Amino acid sequence: MRREITSYREEIHIEKYPISIQMMEHHTELKRILKEEPYLCTGHTYIIVDQSGSMREADVDGFRSRSHAAYGTLALEFLAEQLSSRPNPQDLFAESVTVVEMREESEVILSNEPFDWILFNRLLKRPNISRPSFGGNYNKSLEKVSQMILKEHSNLLSDGVEHGDLPNFSLVFLSDGKPSDTTPAKNVKERASILTSLSVSLKDKFSLFALGVGNREAEFEQLQLMVETVTKNGSNGQLACTGVSTLKLANTFSQISNTLSCSRTTLLDSALPNAAKMPKVAKDIEKRETGKIVGKTMPSQKYTRKTHTITRYRFDKDRSKSNPWQAVDLATHGANGVEVETKFFGKGSERLAFRFHELANQKRVGKMLVAKNSVHLNENETKESFHHDFCHVQSTAYDLAEKFNTAVRNAPLLQSTFLPTNREYYTKPPELKFMLCHVYSIKNNTTGEKTDYLVERMLQGKFTKYNSNNGYVRGEKKDTAHNTRTIELKAGKVKLEEFVQAFSHWVYEHSNKHMIVCDLQGVLNQESRYPEFMLTDPAICTRKGRRFGKTDMGLNGIRRFCSTHKCGAVCKGLGLSYINKLDS
Ligand SMILES: [Zn+2]
Repeated sequence: MRREITSYREEIHIEKYPISIQMMEHHTELKRILKEEPYLCTGHTYIIVDQSGSMREADVDGFRSRSHAAYGTLALEFLAEQLSSRPNPQDLFAESVTVVEMREESEVILSNEPFDWILFNRLLKRPNISRPSFGGNYNKSLEKVSQMILKEHSNLLSDGVEHGDLPNFSLVFLSDGKPSDTTPAKNVKERASILTSLSVSLKDKFSLFALGVGNREAEFEQLQLMVETVTKNGSNGQLACTGVSTLKLANTFSQISNTLSCSRTTLLDSALPNAAKMPKVAKDIEKRETGKIVGKTMPSQKYTRKTHTITRYRFDKDRSKSNPWQAVDLATHGANGVEVETKFFGKGSERLAFRFHELANQKRVGKMLVAKNSVHLNENETKESFHHDFCHVQSTAYDLAEKFNTAVRNAPLLQSTFLPTNREYYTKPPELKFMLCHVYSIKNNTTGEKTDYLVERMLQGKFTKYNSNNGYVRGEKKDTAHNTRTIELKAGKVKLEEFVQAFSHWVYEHSNKHMIVCDLQGVLNQESRYPEFMLTDPAICTRKGRRFGKTDMGLNGIRRFCSTHKCGAVCKGLGLSYINKLDS
């Protein structure tokens, strides 16, 4: 008679995830990125959790209360599920979560948080510090979330993000019963109008996942109405009534997780020119390299000035928009013809490569050259189309690389620790040089038939693809001796190749985050006095997209780059703000 005995359901124990210092640092970096570069975001999930008094009920197996069940399954099946199943550790880069608790009033408890294990721990802890109480007014919380989403949406639009590139906005609405604000009827109308305005503005970029927990299925007709409202107006809606089954609740969350990862993948995949690009990249490189085996005779075609008019053009992007082409002499003094092999020796995803020579009295003279043609078109290409885009990208990259080299030279941390008198090869930071390209225009004097060849110097050495416009970053496995070569700088021991990766990042910052140069490939020239990367065939991705030809993958190209790039000592030495820290 003198003691009160209380019994609880036996709880399943969910352990906290151990957080390292590095994870904390990464969390801070991601918070900065979500705030300062919101256009990189691929998805923002808003979660409204009912914390009205009835959520205290202890009828869900394995959990102390409905509220514990909501947060527990949210952490496990929504966060942990996505965090551990992603194929690539960077897949959830720039994904964020906002959590709102719904009582009579509504309260934002976590705002624009990175999708990581730190958030997982916070969600687990939440039901222990927040007790369900009072009624649950749907409209106040919906209104709050709707305002946040619409504000974010209008900021992105004014930042120049196009509808197709917008992140996916999702609202997970979790409630255990009838809203307290169902009567008078004007409340129901108001609810519909909040959701309608969201759907009308965001269309397919908005999804509502309504979740009914608890044992009163009949009372979920308001949730049903909400889902109908958004689907009627062009957004995605889904209702799931899980009852008091932990398993059902868990399954629903993992279904939501799947739906969200699919839409995220769709967004990032639009940066891929074709689906099976990744494995092809490696293959292309092989082909290019084997093509360089000299000695094999290939069928070729010779053109001389006796029968043909041969003009060599230089692309000058500063000359004039309408005609950037300037006729110049052939590369070798005394040359009066050219020879081009008719079978390609190398094939990239975008172009075919043929060996090309200048001729003087039918004999090959000068450096070995390479002519490039688009793989997509078989007919002759003119310097106005494909060649124009190619040269425009390459000469823009050339200028940026020059500025990058200067920035490296002026960065105190990137100076060699060797004395200036030491003339050894690996004592200076490498320079980046893009090839200069020309167009050889060959006209048959009798028939008038004309062919334009895009030509640049043949790179000598081991051809390497460092990164790509679909987020590919060269893995550690394929490291060859020269790529792992390190150099002692004031910032520490640095791999030469890091300079190439840092270039993409530097361009991003230097252009005020409007573009990147990627698809970096070429050779490390070991014939020069100091290390020098000779690069060719880059791609430029711009926020607006398609300004630099077919390989400009726009905002999604930039997103892919940022999610895969890892900053190292070179990025730090250049004072760039960290994107992803290099694991040491
Ligand atoms: Zn970086």
